[in-house]
Amino acid sequence: MIPFAGNPLNRASEKRTDSEWIEARRHDPSSLIIPLWRLKPFLLGSERPDATTVLGRLRPEIADSLAGSDAACIFLGLDGDRAVFALDISAAEDPQNREPLAGLGYFTDARTAAQIVPINDAAMIAQAKALIDWHQRHGFCPRCGAPTRMVDAGYRRLCGQCNAEHFPRVDPVVIMLATHGDACLVGRGAQFPPEMFSALAGFIEPGETIEEAVQRELMEEASVRVSDVTYYATQPWPFPSSLMIGCFARAESRDVKADAKEVVEVRWLERGAARELIAGKQVNGMRVPPPIAIAHHLIRTWACGEK
Ligand SMILES: [Zn+2]
Repeated sequence: MIPFAGNPLNRASEKRTDSEWIEARRHDPSSLIIPLWRLKPFLLGSERPDATTVLGRLRPEIADSLAGSDAACIFLGLDGDRAVFALDISAAEDPQNREPLAGLGYFTDARTAAQIVPINDAAMIAQAKALIDWHQRHGFCPRCGAPTRMVDAGYRRLCGQCNAEHFPRVDPVVIMLATHGDACLVGRGAQFPPEMFSALAGFIEPGETIEEAVQRELMEEASVRVSDVTYYATQPWPFPSSLMIGCFARAESRDVKADAKEVVEVRWLERGAARELIAGKQVNGMRVPPPIAIAHHLIRTWACGEK
């Protein structure tokens, strides 16, 4: 399973418009609240590297003692019969060192958290973080500029002035591994550490298919022409709210050239070297992304001959 995928909750979307039901569940002692402080989830356990860590879920009364009265609270779904919400407690000052959380755990960024909590917890972090982030950025109507308010338990915002409706956005990104014979193409982004090489990626543009975006991005970033674009898997990527669409594509030749703007270097990686890199070794001064990234799974799947 790719981290951030595999959300275990029943989203029960038909309940979102039932404000009485949502309100009752919001205060039901059996409900669980996932607090996010400045977009960071709360992890129960020690910060020691070998500690067992799980995502913090609080009883409503505990969570409410940490939140401002206008804090965004989003219905994430049902875990069996229990309702699960995400609550923005950003207004709290230093909550991990104060009652009621002191000594129980710590807040950390979603990327770090996803690498140390169980896979189901990582998926809930993706949902909670992407939605709270969206609400924080969409307090005003892009059509008329008036304030908007949250409705439908967090899945819609409504403009008080022009009645425009706004829905949580998901930005599709293609991330693709071009292959040629027994080699795959990896590149180093301008913002990467010097040894880090990954699959190339880019946002899908309006009026473009997934296949066209894969072909355009590989041409722009590496001057390589590809055909036979095939779908691999997708990954929710809550930074802030992308959907990574993993693909393979067949390159027509090994003539490549980095665009030098977004990608500073591209290399063909032989299958044997790819296997060693995936196992965490450095090869020729290179590394590839860890398993939190779908790029890791693209390279692994190809290197192990599953594609
Ligand atoms: Zn408006």
